[in-house]
Amino acid sequence: MVFKEFKIIRVNLTREKIRVEELDEADARLFLGGKSLGTLFIYREVPPGTDPLSPYNKIVFSAGFFNALVPGASKISVVSKSPLTNLIHDSSSGDFFGPLLRKAGYNAIIVEGASRDPVYLWINNDHVELRDASKLWGKDTSTATRMIRTETSEKASVAVIGPGGENLVRYANITFDIERAAGRGGLGAVMGSKKLKAISVYGDRRPPSAYPEKVKELGKKWYEYFSTNPRFEDTRRYGTTNALLYSAHVGMSPSYNFKKPWIPEDLAAKLAGDEVKKREVEPPWYIHGASCPIKCARYTRTSYKGEEFEVKPEYENLAMLGAATGVFDTDAVLYFNRLVDDLGIDSISTGNTIGWFLELVEEKLIDPKDYGIEVKGFGDAKAVEELIKRIAYRKGVGAILAEGVKRASMLLGIGGDRAVHVKGLEAPAWDPRGKRGLAVSYATADVGASHLRGWPRTRDTPSKGPAKDVVESMASSRDWDALMDTLGICRFVSYKKDAVVEFYKLITGEDASLDELLLVPRRAEVLARIYGVLDHLHPPVDDDIPRRWMEPEGEGPLKDEKAFISEEDKIEAIRYYYVLRGWHPELGVPLPETVERLGLGWAREDALKALQVVSRREI
Ligand code: SF4
Repeated sequence: MVFKEFKIIRVNLTREKIRVEELDEADARLFLGGKSLGTLFIYREVPPGTDPLSPYNKIVFSAGFFNALVPGASKISVVSKSPLTNLIHDSSSGDFFGPLLRKAGYNAIIVEGASRDPVYLWINNDHVELRDASKLWGKDTSTATRMIRTETSEKASVAVIGPGGENLVRYANITFDIERAAGRGGLGAVMGSKKLKAISVYGDRRPPSAYPEKVKELGKKWYEYFSTNPRFEDTRRYGTTNALLYSAHVGMSPSYNFKKPWIPEDLAAKLAGDEVKKREVEPPWYIHGASCPIKCARYTRTSYKGEEFEVKPEYENLAMLGAATGVFDTDAVLYFNRLVDDLGIDSISTGNTIGWFLELVEEKLIDPKDYGIEVKGFGDAKAVEELIKRIAYRKGVGAILAEGVKRASMLLGIGGDRAVHVKGLEAPAWDPRGKRGLAVSYATADVGASHLRGWPRTRDTPSKGPAKDVVESMASSRDWDALMDTLGICRFVSYKKDAVVEFYKLITGEDASLDELLLVPRRAEVLARIYGVLDHLHPPVDDDIPRRWMEPEGEGPLKDEKAFISEEDKIEAIRYYYVLRGWHPELGVPLPETVERLGLGWAREDALKALQVVSRREI
């Protein structure tokens, strides 16, 4: 029954037309929502070769299938062709947006074309309209969100871009309700290229389900479990803000542009745990979704250079804006966090790209004065602040760094061997030299270097044995994570597998096994892979890791560890991943029979074409 009721809002900005469409029942059943459904739309509607910043690209806001029905299922996926990687990219976020979109009666929004003047979209249950956003253009994300809430509803959830998105920074993000972000892959720049400043949504109807009372009852049981179980106490107390103490201790931090993944505890402690906690204040209402039983977000108030501000730090922000740039000043890094949030640029890519630039200066490979800026090297907080601002406004050298670390190294003609990215996506704050097989995850993830696409189940370091041995566990963790991104469940709200199947049955009124559910995101992975190959991707060459991670660590507990034992170890593990996925064992392209088996017979010809394209390409 629920699969007959999928509704999609389609907004054509060029023609200023809004239409509500029904989704084909078979597509709804095979793709459900979130990441998977969004990938289907981009695959079908944005041909390979499309310029991501042209009006021909589209951007999809795809609600998680469990949004507004299951505790902790609060994430929406934003999916588009990434201006950073040219791959189909999905990034999830939000506490309220997805649930309110479902409550308004919709599963997804597809935005196409481009407006001539700035606009925003206002969805209030059945009422959907485009509004003038010229007064909002140029405003930072906090200010714009507050203005839009005043114009629409104080109860609305707002997804907005800042100056970074307006200025087409290739790693601009989309900010949800001031403190959350669909951070990665430059999806904010896609909105900027369409002159779409924001989407505001409000809805007050419960989404359909086959057994609404039973869904509520089961939800209450799990809410109780997550909100009281001592297992989640640390997450409730610190969120992710404690993690630098761990990653630095084990030699997995991104410190100094991944040059020194191990750093002493007293240094790491400046950007972690209690140092952050002593600045903590009560979060405002929009920080914690009503549905979340864990409520991990930590909210701090502090001041930097006389300016008082509030911010919600996370591990990735602290590690990438602080440790990766060598700045270990808590207030400075919290201020950088506030800045990137307001300017609407991804903290991971920003910290990574600036860390790389500082390394070039430190190693005297460039003279910053040639680029009109004073930079001393790692740890220069004044320069980091200035670079963040220049990136968001594309000023001076900021225009080069706004292109992302891969393009920046090509534009400067230097430092490619120090640029830490996969397929153009800057690496996050977990150095894979500390975990056997993690580098396989980075090398083969659909979007490039992401820490959210599968972790191998091992405590071993890479030197302890062949990476191939842990690939199966990485692949199954990837499947589970991608299912969560399809259902909209937050990663910290770690449901048992049976519970997810039980919710599915009560919501749909249909039987499904866990294995069947896990096939849903596999379909998206296969489509994304074929799409990438038909666009530009060249496996297996492009399924690689940055050179830095094949250099042995210099000190600390992981001294001499590399991401793989050897080149052969790497190739063997990556090929094994291809085999597990039913892809061509050497070319890394989904085989036509795999595509058929996943129920995607209509994409069989594309898979054949992709195979031909790769086998004809010269290395
Ligand atoms: S656990 Fe944290 S990130 Fe996840 S939904 Fe709750 S508050 Fe949001």
